Amino acid sequence: MAIVSVEHVTKSYGKTIAVHEFDLETQDGEFVVLVGPSGCGKSTTLRMLAGLEDVSGGRILIDGREVQNVPSKDRDIAMVFQSYALYPHMDVFSNMAFGLKMRGTPKSEILRRVRDAASILDIEPLLERKPRELSGGQRQRVALGRAIVREPQVFLMDEPLSNLDAQLRAGMRAEILKLHQRLGVTAFYVTHDQVEAMTMGQRIVVMREGWIQQISTPLGLYDRPANRFVAGFIGNPAMNFLKMRVDADGKRLQAAFGGIGLPDRLLAAVQSHRDREVWVGVRPEDLSVAAQADTDVLTGTVELIEPLGSVSDVRVNVEGAVVVAQISRESVVRVGETLRLRGDTAHLHLFDTESDVNLLDRQ
Ligand code: ADP
Ligand code: MG
Repeated sequence: MAIVSVEHVTKSYGKTIAVHEFDLETQDGEFVVLVGPSGCGKSTTLRMLAGLEDVSGGRILIDGREVQNVPSKDRDIAMVFQSYALYPHMDVFSNMAFGLKMRGTPKSEILRRVRDAASILDIEPLLERKPRELSGGQRQRVALGRAIVREPQVFLMDEPLSNLDAQLRAGMRAEILKLHQRLGVTAFYVTHDQVEAMTMGQRIVVMREGWIQQISTPLGLYDRPANRFVAGFIGNPAMNFLKMRVDADGKRLQAAFGGIGLPDRLLAAVQSHRDREVWVGVRPEDLSVAAQADTDVLTGTVELIEPLGSVSDVRVNVEGAVVVAQISRESVVRVGETLRLRGDTAHLHLFDTESDVNLLDRQ
């Protein structure tokens, strides 16, 4: 267990800056997820923590000890990669034991640790098999096992499940969380998949082009995204954004396709934006089919319906802008019809059109 402090860590490759001023302090035993689109600097950050990559600036501390110049093998960190990179000619036992052997760990200790790890991961019957005799999920377990046997203070995982099919991934996510609980070790987990981030992270770091966008809990990101990027990245289907004008009184949002009265909680946030446009963010799950009597509605034409079972994702063309609404199966909707949608104003989001910052955060 350990507290990891990352202080203003930067990584540049020549003129390219892969990571800008990364700043984070974990709790002891926390499970932190780094998420963001491909190329945003997730792996680079993890590799700097592991000591596989030098930092260009900043400090990394583990329980107060500065480690950014400590060699990887002396950092008490274990890392699991996307490619399992198991030794094909060695059996599972030897694959798991290899790192310990190289360090000169006594044989009896190796035996104990490999047996313990194999039991935790439920791969005891596989210890004598070669990697080619294992399924993808089993190989992934061996890769995890190889990291666990080191009994590290910090556990790093870089997209460890991306090679598995969807069903197996969901199962392995739960397994990794159970494993984390059992080991109580501080963990960093990298993924580009926001669903994986939301379901696994105690805290999530959202990155974009090398910059941290926001650090929060899953529901913190969902309810209070710091900016339009986070708002659009977290949540599936993605949040809808519509440009609307705040009226001169700062009480209503207005556009050609309709208007919305602002709820009290948003009034203070829009005062600096009277008579100006803002981005209005509304999640598909916060839109529903309006009742006849509803007045503040968005009206558009249904373009596509994707039934998912209990709900359907409905694509509606609202004056040229596409809005996705997730509506319950009780509402019968047909392609081509005109649909009136009502947004739940309790969950509206507003963003500045220039900075993309959440207006609620600027109060
Ligand atoms: P992610 O893991 O989020 O997909 P990476 O951390 O791998 O992103 O990469 C971040 C950025 O750094 C990318 O623009 C990538 O091209 C660049 N980069 C990564 N490694 C190197 C390297 N060894 N040399 C030059 N640029 C690199
Ligand atoms: Mg990567």
